[in-house]
Amino acid sequence: MTEPIVDAAPAIDFDLKNLPKVSLHDHLDGGLRPATIIELAEAVGHTLPSTDPVALGEWFRESANSGSLVRYLETFDHTVAVMQTHEGLFRVAKEFVEDLADDGVVYGEVRWAPEQHLQKGLSLDEAVEAVQEGLEAGVEAVGEGGREIQVGQLITAMRHADRGQEIAELAVRHRNKGAVGFDIAGAEDGFLPSRFRDAFTYLAQHNFPATVHAGEAAGLESIQSALVDGRALRLGHGVRIAEDIMVEFEDDAEDTVGLVTLGDLSSWIRDRGIALEICPSSNLQTGAIAGFGEGIESHPLDMLYQLGFNVTINTDNRLMSGVTLTDEFDLLVETFDYDLDDLLELTLNAAEASFLPLEEKEALVEYINDAYANLG
Ligand SMILES: [Zn+2]
Repeated sequence: MTEPIVDAAPAIDFDLKNLPKVSLHDHLDGGLRPATIIELAEAVGHTLPSTDPVALGEWFRESANSGSLVRYLETFDHTVAVMQTHEGLFRVAKEFVEDLADDGVVYGEVRWAPEQHLQKGLSLDEAVEAVQEGLEAGVEAVGEGGREIQVGQLITAMRHADRGQEIAELAVRHRNKGAVGFDIAGAEDGFLPSRFRDAFTYLAQHNFPATVHAGEAAGLESIQSALVDGRALRLGHGVRIAEDIMVEFEDDAEDTVGLVTLGDLSSWIRDRGIALEICPSSNLQTGAIAGFGEGIESHPLDMLYQLGFNVTINTDNRLMSGVTLTDEFDLLVETFDYDLDDLLELTLNAAEASFLPLEEKEALVEYINDAYANLG
């Protein structure tokens, strides 16, 4: 007897790319076009592993996939090297916005660490201004092409360095000139957010919002510190909060979930609706989810989503991971059978967790709801 033919119609039979998307976790120095890197490198005399765009793109993806942290970090040496001048930052920021819009993103928060872009004499403020000019030029170019996109900067401090206070002040100084939030990034393990306690206090006193990378390369202690010391309104990744959730299976049957118990920390994050900026492909590549199993199907994002956590979907580093937000959506549809309602919910989660003012947030939510409703 042959197996009954399962309905082979795909659950999603429309173009994922055209769905309006919100991108909250996307690094400026992780989203360059290979051809641009080559041109900018030539202009500043920087040597690259390859000067062929296709081969260079492959080199980035292979290095990120190699399992070697050294090789992974080396990729950023090259992107950061070509982003040291006004011209370099402007161009990268402009193209970043155009690429987001091509991917269906209608609102994006772009994060980057100005302190890494001072090697050729730019000041922190000049660097932020160069990026802002590039972002605005990108928004204009997208508008000329008949689409709309809105973007904001997340000003990031590097957690292994010691410039948190300075960067927090920089972010606040640019709050009405493109900066919408603050973040700390870089080596998480061994560098708790508590190191930047004073900077986060300064931000809180100035009512300036922070998202904090936590629960990626380190676990619950890092997440706790992000919330307590960082007053994080969102968590960059935050995926290892799943370590604070106990799932007991009935009769050893792993497909029937029995009792789920949340610890105090995971309860707080779920019940308060603290958004998790989940980056599925990146989490797999960096080993952030290695403790939960081998493949993408072991990613706890589905469990977190089903349990009512405020899950948002992001790309992290589009160049290194070789992905777009459309690809990440596609991955979720393939892996977890997500349908249109799921993608809408994940997108609305991101819109509502954005650092936009309320009126603009409501307009964004309405735009997304309308676009989905019009899909028929
Ligand atoms: Zn990140």
